[in-house]
Amino acid sequence: MSTPAILSLRCPGCGGALHGLSQDVVFWCDGCGGLHEVVQDAFLGRVGSVARPVQPATGSVLHLPVWALRVDAVWQWQDPERAARAGQIAAFVWVYVTGFALHNAFYFGDPGVIFTQKRVALAAGEAAPILGCTRGLEAAKAYIEPHLLTIMDRRVDVTGLELACTIGEAVLWGIPYCDEGEALCDGILGLRIPAAAVDEIGSYRTWLKGRR
Ligand SMILES: [Zn+2]
Repeated sequence: MSTPAILSLRCPGCGGALHGLSQDVVFWCDGCGGLHEVVQDAFLGRVGSVARPVQPATGSVLHLPVWALRVDAVWQWQDPERAARAGQIAAFVWVYVTGFALHNAFYFGDPGVIFTQKRVALAAGEAAPILGCTRGLEAAKAYIEPHLLTIMDRRVDVTGLELACTIGEAVLWGIPYCDEGEALCDGILGLRIPAAAVDEIGSYRTWLKGRR
């Protein structure tokens, strides 16, 4: 059994205070805006950015984490007919994986899958805290293949498909969500998820209120 390590919540970059919610594995620095993931008792810096909303925002906005992983995916089929049909589908450049804990993501619509399918391109906006990341980078990578297969499966029968995937850069985006009380509406596609389905929404709201 390993001894639990105690990390001081100080940014290894600037010494600023790191913030996170109780289940978080990635922490946001108050000083430099950097993101740091706890990996094997140490902090690893992660590339992060806050996405600029493209939908009009009303009320309070919070930023929920979604990983963006640049991929180079090569599909292979033994069946030439299927291979030809799959070849007509444009390649995915970014695969998005939801970083926050969302209950029944499949039922409510997993933002990571939807952003990937819609080939969302994000632009950086104003800096803001990104909290609530319960899924680390390595855990997020495990979703690349299932996400791509889910999306492909809607277009073409994926039986016998082989997928070779190279992963490039990774960015942890803070996606702006308008807090409408019962629902959270993302500022990118304007899709709603029930606030109650977001595990840490209560503590995130309390934390934001404490900063105002
Ligand atoms: Zn810092």
